[in-house]
Amino acid sequence: MKSEPHKVFEQLLNSKGLKVTKQRNDILDYLLKAKKHVTPEDIYRDLNKKDANIGRATVFRTLHLLENAGFADKIQFADGRLAYEHKFARPHHDHMICVECSSVLEFSNATIEKIQEEISKKFMFKPLWHRHEIFGRCKKCNKMD
Ligand SMILES: [Zn+2]
Ligand SMILES: [Zn+2]
Ligand SMILES: [Zn+2]
Repeated sequence: MKSEPHKVFEQLLNSKGLKVTKQRNDILDYLLKAKKHVTPEDIYRDLNKKDANIGRATVFRTLHLLENAGFADKIQFADGRLAYEHKFARPHHDHMICVECSSVLEFSNATIEKIQEEISKKFMFKPLWHRHEIFGRCKKCNKMD
C-alpha cells in the first residue's frame, strides 16, 4: 500500500503532467526519512551512488515542485546554500540558523505566529505561508569567541 505522501506526490506530478518515476519517488523517500534539513547536494550525492540515472536537475526540480505545493520547506544558510525538509504531518515551525556551523534549531512560538497574523490582517494581506529565519551563532559556536 502506498503511504499518504506518495499518493499526494503522485497527484502533484499528474497535475503538472509529469510522470511518476523511480528517481522522483526516491527523492521523496529521502526527504521523508531525513532526520535533519538536507541540501540538494546531499540528496544528489547519496542517491546517485545507488542510481546513476538520478541527475542534479531532477533533484532540484522535484524539491522545487514539493516546495511550491507546500509539501516541503526551504531554509537558506548564511553562505547561500539551501536545505529542505518535508512538511507531511509535521507541525509548523521556524528556524534559527548558525552562521558558523550551519546548524539549525527549530522553534515555534504562538505569540510570534499570532502577531504575524494580526499584522497581515492590518494590511488586508492574506498570508498563505511564511518563513521566519533568525541568523546568528549557536550555543557551541558562541563559546569559541
Ligand atoms: Zn512561523
Ligand atoms: Zn554553530
Ligand atoms: Zn525545520
